[in-house]
Amino acid sequence: MRSHVFPAGLGVEDSISKLEKITILSHFNKSNHISNNIIMIQTDILVIGAGPCGLFTAFEAGLLKLRTHFVDTLPIPGGQCAEIYPKKPIYDIPGFPSILAGDLIDNLMKQIEPFKPGFTLGERAEAIDKQEDGSFILTTNKGTKIQAPVIAIAAGLGCFEPRKPPISNIVQFEDKGIDYIIRDPQKYAGKKVVVAGGGDSALDWTIILADIAEEVTLVHRRTSFRGALDSVEKVMDLAKSGKINVITEAQITGLNGNGVLKEVVIKQKATGESPKQVDNFIPLFGLSPKLGPIAEWGLNINKNAIEVDTLDYSTNVKGIYAIGDINTYEGKLKLILCGFHEATLMVQSAFKHIYPDKKLSFKYTTVNGVQGFEEPKEEEVNV
Ligand code: FAD
Repeated sequence: MRSHVFPAGLGVEDSISKLEKITILSHFNKSNHISNNIIMIQTDILVIGAGPCGLFTAFEAGLLKLRTHFVDTLPIPGGQCAEIYPKKPIYDIPGFPSILAGDLIDNLMKQIEPFKPGFTLGERAEAIDKQEDGSFILTTNKGTKIQAPVIAIAAGLGCFEPRKPPISNIVQFEDKGIDYIIRDPQKYAGKKVVVAGGGDSALDWTIILADIAEEVTLVHRRTSFRGALDSVEKVMDLAKSGKINVITEAQITGLNGNGVLKEVVIKQKATGESPKQVDNFIPLFGLSPKLGPIAEWGLNINKNAIEVDTLDYSTNVKGIYAIGDINTYEGKLKLILCGFHEATLMVQSAFKHIYPDKKLSFKYTTVNGVQGFEEPKEEEVNV
């Protein structure tokens, strides 16, 4: 197993191409080989999910001198911001009138860098075992083991998977012309693109791609769209001016190509099936959130979310907390700034859980500054 320190300042877009499935171990976290090929990583707070709320946990934990280690199924940090909408501006992050979601993640990565968190990316948190000393050992689907006295679940929508249209050979063209998520719209510059869907995502991307792609066709099953009214109006205006094509009461029923996608078959209610030459087909039917293995961990679950006590965002299992989109409580808002707040309160409680006899004194960062962790030699102890 390779171990890396996450390169400081590596942008989300860069990281998509540079990081495939790699395990990044912080030089600070201890990693013990528990057999020839299994590593046991030890940390203070194991964070499941490296979305924005999970990432900010590393900063707040670092201020209290607590180490963090992340596990995420995605190959890059950033959660929904990096995976679904890196190029969209967010307008409700305090202090940023507007910030691209991808830039927010880059900034968070810079902000937590002094605390040298570890990352196990491209692996799904699968099972947890409570130890006699009260700590937990988490095992990923690839067999990596991480031990920590505290687990912070920041798993957002869970392991989310795109909803795929029912076309028999669709898998054959995935990443070979078919994309379910747009990471970089510039990829479609000069291309013939068919977008399918009737919600915000399909409308927003159609508008953005109208300025980038050579040709954009939006295909939707119905005559009315589910997305925001102003987006629907913009799409209709673009269609009227001839900048894009909109085909309603239609769906994609076939895909053809030789290794890469060359043609989609559009079935219209009025006229039947007709082929259309394309470079890319982008079905945007939303993501189907799946809690996945987390649902089996004995936590109180309510409508796919984990119930927490708003005092400290603890779950019904002592030592396990849940923050960000994954939790639920009365008045919950699934917003990044709410997740930042939850992370901040949660680490205070985690500190008391780990060190019940230590006094925790609250200090402003303006008074204390940011005392990052020194970089001791990586510890690997054979046991
Ligand atoms: P996420 O960002 O969902 O990250 C969770 C991570 O956990 C994911 O990377 C996932 O892979 C990982 N994970 C899940 N299960 C496992 C597992 N078993 N093992 C390992 N890893 C796992 N919010 C705003 O505040 N303002 C906005 O303007 C805004 N605009 C949005 C626009 C769009 C199109 C979307 C989709 C969302 C928007 N949001 C916005 C919502 C915001 O993105 C979420 O509130 C935020 O991402 C939640 O962060 P999180 O860290 O809780 O979870």
